[in-house]
Amino acid sequence: AAKKQGGNKVLLYDEEISKEKKKKLRIETRLRKAIKNEEIEVYYQPKIDARTDVVTGIEALLRWTDEELGFVSPDIFISVAEETGLIHPLWEIAMKEACFQVNKWNEKRVVPLNLAVNFSAKQFQDAASLVKQVKQMLSNCHLAPENFEIEITESTLLFNSNETIKALQDLQEYGISISIDDFGTGYSSLSYLKTLPIDCLKIDRSFILDIREDYSNCGIPEAIINLARSLRLQVIAEGVEEEYQKEFLLQNQCYHMQGYLFSKPLNKQDLEGFLDRRDG
Ligand code: C2E
Ligand code: MG
Ligand code: MG
Ligand code: MG
Repeated sequence: AAKKQGGNKVLLYDEEISKEKKKKLRIETRLRKAIKNEEIEVYYQPKIDARTDVVTGIEALLRWTDEELGFVSPDIFISVAEETGLIHPLWEIAMKEACFQVNKWNEKRVVPLNLAVNFSAKQFQDAASLVKQVKQMLSNCHLAPENFEIEITESTLLFNSNETIKALQDLQEYGISISIDDFGTGYSSLSYLKTLPIDCLKIDRSFILDIREDYSNCGIPEAIINLARSLRLQVIAEGVEEEYQKEFLLQNQCYHMQGYLFSKPLNKQDLEGFLDRRDG
């Protein structure tokens, strides 16, 4: 009986895998179509200096609602895109749309907005041409490199070669800032922080979520803030939802924040409204 049960388990497991594969294939097919038909949208989440409530920048985040699949979370379609070579066209959509918009907004602003775009580790497999394309796109949109930021995760640094490091150095020398997204969740060693071209640590949302009203459970965010200070890096907290999380961060001299407490990611009209209310 045991043998039979084991056999069934294997069968069930195979079925699960093929179900999973089919689902991914369906997402891939629909995603290809969405890219072709320009159905992918760019949303913008403000980054705030919580001391003054000034908007210091915005992060571009992709949104996709498919006719058949409904809303698909970026966590899902980005990972499918990374596996299927669609990540580059998606990135091009985010870049083109966001650079164009930010340049338009900045024409009317005294202090320019900084734009952050998420880059996937996969894209650094062809690092040299990526660097070229980034510079080209910024110059096409008249966006100063000083107002542009790349968000990468620790895996980008972990899985890539000297080429990646050279590319990041090149981009940094050009004036672009490099941030480590979801910082603290990767597996990489701390020694890379000393040698790599990094400007900012973005404390992962899960650690901010851990901060309680009584300020217990704050060891990790506190440690990351201190680490950033020691290494003379900027630090920003993502996923700030509660007033007491903001207070804790301010008390620990982490002034830059992003999260639902300030704003969710917004489409371009809503972001314009948000900026107008703040500035006017
Ligand atoms: P991320 O870059 O770490 O972005 C932060 C995510 O947290 C976003 O999810 C954002 O909507 C969400 N978030 C921000 N503040 C809060 C908060 O206060 N509470 C909660 N619960 N969530 C908050 P989103 O937009 O679903 O994106 C998920 C991930 O997908 C991103 O994580 C990023 O890794 C990836 N992604 C999105 N757009 C792009 C893109 O254009 N290129 C690449 N390579 N990845 C992207
Ligand atoms: Mg990000
Ligand atoms: Mg993040
Ligand atoms: Mg994330």
